[in-house]
Amino acid sequence: MTWRIPFIDLRPTEVEKKQLTYVISKVMDHGQFILGPEVELLEKNVSSFCGRHYAVGVSSGTDALYLGLRSLDIGPNDEVIVPALSWIATANAVTMTGAIPVFCDIGNDLNMDKNAAAKLIGPRTRAILCVHYGGRLCDIVALKMLAVQYKLHFLEDASQAFGAERNGHISGGVGDISMFSLNPMKVFGACGEAGILLTDNEDVYQRVLRLRNNGIVNKLHCVEASLNSRIDTIQAAILLMRLGSLKERLKYREVLALRYSKQLHDLVRVPEVLIGERHVYYSYIIRTKCRNDLLNYLCSRGVEAKIRDSVLMPEQPYYRSTMVGSYPTAQGLVHELLYLPMHDRLCIEDIDLVANMIKQYFH
Ligand SMILES: *Cc1c(COP(=O)(O)O)cnc(C)c1O
Repeated sequence: MTWRIPFIDLRPTEVEKKQLTYVISKVMDHGQFILGPEVELLEKNVSSFCGRHYAVGVSSGTDALYLGLRSLDIGPNDEVIVPALSWIATANAVTMTGAIPVFCDIGNDLNMDKNAAAKLIGPRTRAILCVHYGGRLCDIVALKMLAVQYKLHFLEDASQAFGAERNGHISGGVGDISMFSLNPMKVFGACGEAGILLTDNEDVYQRVLRLRNNGIVNKLHCVEASLNSRIDTIQAAILLMRLGSLKERLKYREVLALRYSKQLHDLVRVPEVLIGERHVYYSYIIRTKCRNDLLNYLCSRGVEAKIRDSVLMPEQPYYRSTMVGSYPTAQGLVHELLYLPMHDRLCIEDIDLVANMIKQYFH
């Protein structure tokens, strides 16, 4: 079925297609497809965008998470606190190091709850790995203070929130290590798989540089076993170009989202934005008790609303039996979340069409 309003549309515009062809052809001209000059330039520009000293481009967000954890020697017998609600990569990256993800409850902001996290800290806890779910920053100041208080590493899975801000802090700017997926779905994304890791710690930086490249230093000596997680030069070139217009794109997403919110706030719970906060609306998520019924109503009329992450990470078949943690709020909330179409190719009329349909449903 073709949708009147698709959930997501990742096709570049004709104008952008030309620009993309140009930057790709520039890479063809120099032929440095592996760790070419665009990689270093992207690292430089993203680290400065986020106010960090160092960045390392990698092949995915999952790899950024995994290598970040490994660079801190997090592994067997360690625990890492993660929110119950996220894309499964957050928990899997912890598990793949040999450590145990401990699942934490969320608050009404859909992000890790500080008080719940405090209760999960034990002798084996090494890090708090927060997620900025849906494009909204979690309470990074409170969570970072908690981590500092217990001498834990504070890590950010900022994959869904490139460019988000809260009280002068920017997504990717606060974690001891901050990780982004830059896959095509994200608000800042490539035309293929990509990710990046940010830090101010020189040791972490040097370690991740070699971890992404089979553990090789000085292009010669393998000093530890690792796999290949290098970012592709063509993807780096595309990202470099897209970073230039990112602020504009984020502003447009905000216009679309606020248009939804203005029309829907009396009918459903719309995404909250506090003063001093910039939400980037990776997802536009509404909350309503009649979620399933409204979903069917919209889909049968050609609007591709969706339910995402409806199986909480700890309730996935792999984690169910061994799961550690407790998350009652997440269990209640997850049945009320509905994700509306949200992408750069929507226009105001599309938003109004969806909003009117939701109004009709409630009347
Ligand atoms: C997309 C995403 C990832 C994984 O990124 P990939 O680039 O697909 O490996 C990790 N965490 C969160 C929160 C994500 O949204």
